Amino acid sequence: MKKVSGPSARGFYRKSRQRERILALLRSTQTHPTAAWIFDRLRREFPSLSVGTVYRNIAILVDEGLVNRIDFGSTFDRFDANTLPHYHFICEGCARIIDVDVPFDQAITARVDSSSGLTARRHEIEFYGLCERCAKER
Ligand SMILES: [Zn+2]
Ligand SMILES: [Zn+2]
Repeated sequence: MKKVSGPSARGFYRKSRQRERILALLRSTQTHPTAAWIFDRLRREFPSLSVGTVYRNIAILVDEGLVNRIDFGSTFDRFDANTLPHYHFICEGCARIIDVDVPFDQAITARVDSSSGLTARRHEIEFYGLCERCAKER
């Protein structure tokens, strides 16, 4: 993938409408979608769109701190427009990634720092189990 060089690139403004739509789409869902999912939903609106364009636009949004890239070792990058610190629940039945309504504990990071000489800057916690839908099917 080409490195995104920032707002000086000439395509910046020309592509900003696509980027706005991508951001709006990401903000409209809590499903932590892939670039392919976004592409599928915007391809009719932007006939010249490609998965590569979607990726490049998301890379800029990530760079701007508007979107988080999440990687739980899955094949595809997933994206999250909720940039407030929060935890995720991964359903082992359907692989959905769900935001968990548990207060984010900033103190955990500091605890690592003070006890071991390691400088922790952030932490992530993922919970694994079954979502409501999958639990009902068992
Ligand atoms: Zn599930
Ligand atoms: Zn999330």
